[in-house]
Amino acid sequence: MMSRPYDVDVAVAGAGFAGLNTALAVSRAGRSVTVIEARDRVGGRTKPGHLAGSVVDLGGQWVGPDHRRLLALAARHRVALEPQFDAGAKLIDYQGQVRPYTGLIPALPVLALLEVDRVMKRIERMAAALAASAPWNAPDAAALDAVTVAGWLDAHVRTKGARMLMAVAVRAVFSAEPAEISMLFFLAYLRASGGLEPLVSVRGGAQQDRFRGGLHQLSERLADEVGRGRLRLSTPLLAVEQDMDGVTLRLGGGDSLRARRVVLALPPALLGRLAGQPAWPALRAGLNQRMAMGSVIKCHVAYATPFWRARGLAGEAVSDRGPFSPIFDGTPEGVSHGVLSGFLEGEAARRFTVAPPAIRRQAVVDTLVRLFGPPAASPIDYVENDWLAEEWSGGCYAGLMAPATMTGFGPVIRQPAGLVHFAGTETAIDATGYVEGALESGERAAAEVLDALRSTP
Ligand SMILES: Cc1cc2nc3c(=O)[nH]c(=O)nc-3n(C[C@H](O)[C@H](O)[C@H](O)COP(=O)(O)OP(=O)(O)OC[C@H]3O[C@@H](n4cnc5c(N)ncnc54)[C@H](O)[C@@H]3O)c2cc1C
Repeated sequence: MMSRPYDVDVAVAGAGFAGLNTALAVSRAGRSVTVIEARDRVGGRTKPGHLAGSVVDLGGQWVGPDHRRLLALAARHRVALEPQFDAGAKLIDYQGQVRPYTGLIPALPVLALLEVDRVMKRIERMAAALAASAPWNAPDAAALDAVTVAGWLDAHVRTKGARMLMAVAVRAVFSAEPAEISMLFFLAYLRASGGLEPLVSVRGGAQQDRFRGGLHQLSERLADEVGRGRLRLSTPLLAVEQDMDGVTLRLGGGDSLRARRVVLALPPALLGRLAGQPAWPALRAGLNQRMAMGSVIKCHVAYATPFWRARGLAGEAVSDRGPFSPIFDGTPEGVSHGVLSGFLEGEAARRFTVAPPAIRRQAVVDTLVRLFGPPAASPIDYVENDWLAEEWSGGCYAGLMAPATMTGFGPVIRQPAGLVHFAGTETAIDATGYVEGALESGERAAAEVLDALRSTP
């Protein structure tokens, strides 16, 4: 029996940075490609918002100096960088007291400070010892994967101050509580970005620069490079049916698409929603079930002026009771108003996703008043994005692994299932969780399908 003719060589699901970068590499290699996207826009976990007449990023926004693919994309499209403002003192709100500090580590009691230094060095050593592409092969992988970060901190950190600071760092990097993630996953994630310090730093770290006009616009430029005619927006993928010769994708609206190879550039948690024929291989299905997304609501608050700068403050703050923490100066360059940007993360995000919007906004402003004083009580504008409520993300920043997931299921994360390949920041070896990781995963998945197409008639 003749099988149905192919519509394209490669079908990609997901028009985030991973799917778009896959499609770009495939089309540049002379293969036909179609990108299927559920949302009515490209960019996925990046998204533009509007605040006080300027564009702000409601999702991903920063770029670090090691994010070479993202920096190259911006340079290609002449999108300028704006350094993250960090001149002046930062604030820490700890045990009911707000204190200024400079440098990376906040003002804590001496014993806690010494312990933070010791614990950070130990964590950096443990992360550096892992193989980035196969952390599950480490000799102590099973032991590290048997505990959560909270369990490990309980066993190895004595001072309250050091435990608090590590919890603040985990929430900031993972938008999850230390009790939610495995110690092995935590270390592997750090390993993919060169350690904990680069992940929590502004200068020299993952928060060093933003893009003038926002990061989201780069997904639009990438989509232009792919070619708008190759994108099908507002078209959810529902089912993946494979046979000996190809893959048929069942799409929302009753349509279908037949391809020689498929790249699914979606977070694993969303792969679990797709029907598979044949069913997903057991370990892939297990991974999809286990890799839950983080919990984050991002909020930007505008003021008539960046009043904190006049008081010698950087606009950067962390708090042990939040709920709004961490906070950064989010003021775009060249405007007269000021912006404080920050996050409700982990448990706080879950508490406030179910709160009425006015209560959530008040909790954000109340935190800012506690940290920055009475002028913070009078914002001129406010915008937020609740990523837990986004159907096509299901949470953010990224998929996370609880104990026994990385050792039990991690090894299949980049393993194709028949003619279906996997991309997305969760599958990246370099900078997993970040846009840089999404771009890297797209390069890798494109190389896989192009190789496979070359070796089949
Ligand atoms: C609040 C926030 C702050 C962040 N901050 C930063 C930062 O400062 N710097 C940084 O580098 N990263 C940051 N990130 C993370 C970064 O945004 C992500 O790592 C990156 O965008 C992931 O890209 P991706 O292509 O892998 O996945 P996604 O962007 O999630 O793309 C997947 C796409 O698949 C689509 N899709 C889902 N299901 C289906 C389906 N069934 N059919 C068709 N399409 C489907 C989705 O709509 C989406 O467009 C942040 C994220 C958030 C939310």
